[in-house]
Amino acid sequence: MQYYSLGKNSPNVDFRTAAITGQAPDKGLYFPSTIPKFTAAQIERFKTIDKATLAFEVMKPYVAGTIDDASLKEICAETIHFDFPLVPITEDILSLELFHGPTLAFKDVGARFMSRCLGYFSKDKKANKTTTVLVATSGDTGGAVANGFLGVEGVNVIILYPKGKVSPIQELQLTTCGQNITALEVEGSFDDCQAIVKEAFMDAALNAQFNLTSANSINVARWLPQQLYYFFAWQQWVAKYQDALGNYPAMNMVVPSGNFGNICAGMMAKASGLPLGHFIAACNANDVVTRYLATEKYEVRQAIATVSNAMDVGNPSNFVRIMEILENNFPALTNALSSYSIDDTNTKSTIARVYKTNNYTLDPHGAVAFAAAEIYLANHPQAKTIILETAHPVKFPEVVEEAIGEKIAIPASVEFLFDKEKISIPLAANFAAFKNWMKEGK
Ligand SMILES: *Cc1c(COP(=O)(O)O)cnc(C)c1O
Repeated sequence: MQYYSLGKNSPNVDFRTAAITGQAPDKGLYFPSTIPKFTAAQIERFKTIDKATLAFEVMKPYVAGTIDDASLKEICAETIHFDFPLVPITEDILSLELFHGPTLAFKDVGARFMSRCLGYFSKDKKANKTTTVLVATSGDTGGAVANGFLGVEGVNVIILYPKGKVSPIQELQLTTCGQNITALEVEGSFDDCQAIVKEAFMDAALNAQFNLTSANSINVARWLPQQLYYFFAWQQWVAKYQDALGNYPAMNMVVPSGNFGNICAGMMAKASGLPLGHFIAACNANDVVTRYLATEKYEVRQAIATVSNAMDVGNPSNFVRIMEILENNFPALTNALSSYSIDDTNTKSTIARVYKTNNYTLDPHGAVAFAAAEIYLANHPQAKTIILETAHPVKFPEVVEEAIGEKIAIPASVEFLFDKEKISIPLAANFAAFKNWMKEGK
């Protein structure tokens, strides 16, 4: 499989180069030269095969020529080594819980897959240089990346996070790993962290010295494995609803969206033959795409801070990939995708209401999706939807506990974090300070 740049001004590369470099030299995002098409017989088989085999078969065409089958099987089995349960909340809204991974975030899948791919590539004799993964986080990405890359040889990870602006569990997930993971506690906002990272990628000398790469969803190795959620959801959907004639209701997906990597992966899965229904992008007040669908005007804005902060994105980086899947055809876009914008008041009241009425605790991102699903269902009374629950509510205790009026129990799987020591390096919120720290040999 070859990947081309959506900037249309860089040479094609294989999966290995796309994963190692993250972005094309022309700053475009990489996109696969062909979208694999599964046959009806393959899709039928996918209904019942085990998750690891399914993951291997879905990912195989994308890495073709760069990772051998035995290694890819191992990478896939490790990547998806936890549960993805589909849990009914109401009769027509089911929650696909993507927070059962090691850092309680859906980003675990992408981070684990990418880290293992880079680890595999760094074993190659040609690559005798350490790769440095640089990532800015508002909370969730950093933990998943730290955990995913921990102990991976040939890769160092540097995480920049805004001091005092991530939740206690998130901070522990970032700062207690040690080994090849370094956390920089920046005296500033998430935007400051992101600005430093962007400047670092543009600094030729720094890139040459440290082999910098990005671990956000622009990287194909993090973006593409997110398709797997949709395959796992569909297996459970079919098992639950398929009748004797093989029919089942359309599986409409409501995806809490920020950079639109996750929902775009779902649309890839559909383009490759997985029989999915309609897509609904659930957004917070950052509604560039919601407005684009309504007006056909794409207006980038400054990000607005909300309670679903992992979706505070003013210019979603993966939206160009959605347009590429749909061949830049606006009617095809509005046919495939709807979008609703949910404000913070509605998000919080949804958490409270669903807890009271349905005894289900949503996190703020899942709550945005639930509220969007309700709007969609009001317009499509016969439909059913799946919302993606992208994070565990315990990662957002302030908002959720206030809404439900109770403490959230800390899952046993993260309790151990509280016995660990936080280790972070304070950093002033400017690129010069960062570059200085890098140059001084850290
Ligand atoms: C990253 C994130 C999102 C947004 O995902 P995108 O792929 O950027 O659209 C939603 N919810 C949570 C909890 C996240 O961490």
